[in-house]
Amino acid sequence: MRIRGRRTAFCPGAEPQRLLDLQLAVTSSLTDAGTPAGAGARMLEQIWRGLELDHGILWWVDRDAQALVRADTRPAAGRSAPRPDLAEAAWRTGAVSWSPEGGVAVPVAAAGRVLGVLECRHASLREPDRVLGELLQAFGRQLGDVVARLESQRAALSTEARRRAVLEAAPDPVISVDGEGRISEFNPAAGVAFGLARDDALGRPVTDLVPERLRERHLDGFRRCLDGAEPGILGRRFESVALRADGSEFPVELTVTRSDPLGSPAFTGYLRDLSGDRRADRAMRDLAAIVESSQDAILSTTLDGVILTWNRGAESLYGYTSQEAVGRSVAMLAASGQVEEMSRTIERVRAGESETQVDVLRRRKDGSTVDVELTVSPVVGGDGGIVGASVIARDMTLQRRAQEQIAYLAFHDQLTGLPNRSLFYQHLELAIARADRGRLGVAVLFVDLDNFKLINDSFGHLAGDALLQDFATRLRAVTRATDTVARQGGDEFLVLVPDLELSSGPGIEPNALEVVQSIEAKVRSVLETPFDVAGTPIHVGLSVGVSIYPIDARDRDQLLRNADTAMYVGKGLADDASPGLEQAGSRGRLALIGRLRGAVEHDQFELRYQPIVELASGNMVGAEALLRWRDPVRGLVAPGEFIPLAERSGMIKPITHWVIEHACRQAREWSDHALDLVVTFNLPPSLWGPEIIETLIAATHRAGVEPHRMMIEITESTAMVQPGRARQTLDALREHGVRLAIDDFGTGYSSLGRLHQLPVSTLKIDRSFVHALPHDAGAAAIVDTIIQLSHSLGVQPLAEGIESEQQLRFLIEHGCDLGQGFLLGRPMVADRIEALAY
Ligand code: C2E
Ligand code: MG
Ligand code: MG
Repeated sequence: MRIRGRRTAFCPGAEPQRLLDLQLAVTSSLTDAGTPAGAGARMLEQIWRGLELDHGILWWVDRDAQALVRADTRPAAGRSAPRPDLAEAAWRTGAVSWSPEGGVAVPVAAAGRVLGVLECRHASLREPDRVLGELLQAFGRQLGDVVARLESQRAALSTEARRRAVLEAAPDPVISVDGEGRISEFNPAAGVAFGLARDDALGRPVTDLVPERLRERHLDGFRRCLDGAEPGILGRRFESVALRADGSEFPVELTVTRSDPLGSPAFTGYLRDLSGDRRADRAMRDLAAIVESSQDAILSTTLDGVILTWNRGAESLYGYTSQEAVGRSVAMLAASGQVEEMSRTIERVRAGESETQVDVLRRRKDGSTVDVELTVSPVVGGDGGIVGASVIARDMTLQRRAQEQIAYLAFHDQLTGLPNRSLFYQHLELAIARADRGRLGVAVLFVDLDNFKLINDSFGHLAGDALLQDFATRLRAVTRATDTVARQGGDEFLVLVPDLELSSGPGIEPNALEVVQSIEAKVRSVLETPFDVAGTPIHVGLSVGVSIYPIDARDRDQLLRNADTAMYVGKGLADDASPGLEQAGSRGRLALIGRLRGAVEHDQFELRYQPIVELASGNMVGAEALLRWRDPVRGLVAPGEFIPLAERSGMIKPITHWVIEHACRQAREWSDHALDLVVTFNLPPSLWGPEIIETLIAATHRAGVEPHRMMIEITESTAMVQPGRARQTLDALREHGVRLAIDDFGTGYSSLGRLHQLPVSTLKIDRSFVHALPHDAGAAAIVDTIIQLSHSLGVQPLAEGIESEQQLRFLIEHGCDLGQGFLLGRPMVADRIEALAY
């Protein structure tokens, strides 16, 4: 069959070239179609012409009405509308449909969905023709694809338009970036923030908006986002720094999302400019976070005391959750009898006043009370008026405990837990005052263990300490609760017996004497059971000296002196045969005093020097002069063996002068050899006074050494006991720049409060504490406290008696500045110090 004219019979099968031409014409007609209707019209035109149809009709499916709507016909002003039967058949079946009246219809479909129908009418199309059917079906699919693409583009376009509108209006910068990292979207807010016009921004690498130093990191993150390997960035909010066109930087908060429109990767960053006002926002948020995480309880209330805010600190301090507390009255926190005080505080706040750091008691939810330090301030509203109160409460429990510990440390002996001399003196003074008022007596017993040094030397200090503790416990057990048992130091104890009934009449008062004798007997009775010293039962002797006020003494000091002497005499009488110097009997002691006198005359003393080391650096910064007696009979004798006797016999003065003279000369020698060492020496309590400073200053002049190279060591009690005399002494010290150290700190009479009045430069922590380090938790706590205390007083702590690496490490870790001990250097002759220093 041939096509002979428009009205001739139609036989596509015989005209393959025409079909091919038709196919090309249809395809090219679709390429630049802008709308589905346009595409449909063009295709219909091509087919109508190409196949020389009588009629070509395009139907669209109206999805809402579920009906076919005629969209286009050829010729344009065609006959009366054809019936849709044929087209409907193709729509319903989704397949090509032939009409015996001369027509064929194919679905216009995309992705399996029928969008419309293409209907061709011609008288010759009565029989199904496979080739023509397939061609028309292909046209149907082709048109379907185009329509589907155009529709989705249109949908995308309208989404895009909406998106653009939002972006234009957005108050914050929004920047999109394509897969190459080039800016593809840049809204007006971004323009303002970066100082860059949209047209200048589009197409630029986004790294232009990032400070140079951060670009590498930015690119790295970008690449990982592209690979899909960066879940940490996408969708998260983080902070960064951005670069303005003028080169200035500003902080931003950034959220990046990934969207891949049309299949290619794209990222959009939503930024918040944190500079300027926004920093205030940020500051507010930070402040809120700080308040929330504070350990202190922080709350706000109305002027009627109704709780408005309640942080986590408040939850843990008071036990109420925020839900429980907010809306209730602060009165629920008042401990009994404090509601008044609370309302007074609120009154004050109303008047615009604050209360700072007042200590009050508060009640917790569980009914227990807690010590808090309170700061209450008015909250000022926007109009300048006072609208409420802010309350900060700090739990003072721990601080209280620390204060109590320090107070305890000041008034108690650490080893035995007994009151120390300081507390004893206070009790004694009270007892004497009471005695004066009530015609009563006060007895002081001086108790001293015999041969204690021997036990220490033979069994070690730990065993000695245990014995002292045991003895203290026994003493407490045999005395009354109203008596005071104190440790004077070393192996010396004091017992105060107040409120003794004195019978009238002259002479020794029988009542008081009886009581005292019975107490003395009880004290002695504690020795009946031997002490367990390192597993060995040991019998220990003791000496007791008694003095009664107002019978033996007229004042406190005389009372104590007499008791001491009484004991000393008692001791001398009690044992005559013991071999040691201190243990020598009265006869031996007399002989010893004679030999000591000879020692002064014949210059039998020598000084050893023990290095003082700056612990952090290991540098030697000083040396302590320690006295030795080269006794022709016994060889080199340690100071502990003769100093006490020298003190009692008055010989201590020339000995001390000798020490000062030689220590100054040594200091001069070292300074000549360019050794920067402070030389420290021990001063006995009895010589503490302005006179000794003069002696020292004179000695430094003679030796030609600056006074600040010399340091005097005195014990705590020396420093504290005679404040009147001390003042003058201290002024003299200050004037000349002589340094002062408190020796054996922690063992005796310490009034920590008064320490800071002295020009003390060093606090020497007694070696009994250092000895127990680091395993003894009590000693560790005490050493730590003393170190902290020293620092708070602006004084250098020095640990005495460092013998082990562990002790050294502990001290360094706890910030102890200076140290002395066998580990760092034993006492040695001056030349060896010099050798060591080089
Ligand atoms: P101190 O002033 O506390 O001197 C430190 C004592 O501890 C010295 O004993 C020293 O040898 C000793 N020592 C140092 N490091 C360690 C160590 O790691 N472990 C142990 N267990 N001991 C260590 P020394 O020389 O026997 O002096 C004893 C006390 O005699 C001195 O105690 C001081 O109070 C007194 N003393 C020494 N020289 C004089 C002096 O010239 N005049 C006066 N009045 N007293 C002196
Ligand atoms: Mg010393
Ligand atoms: Mg010492």
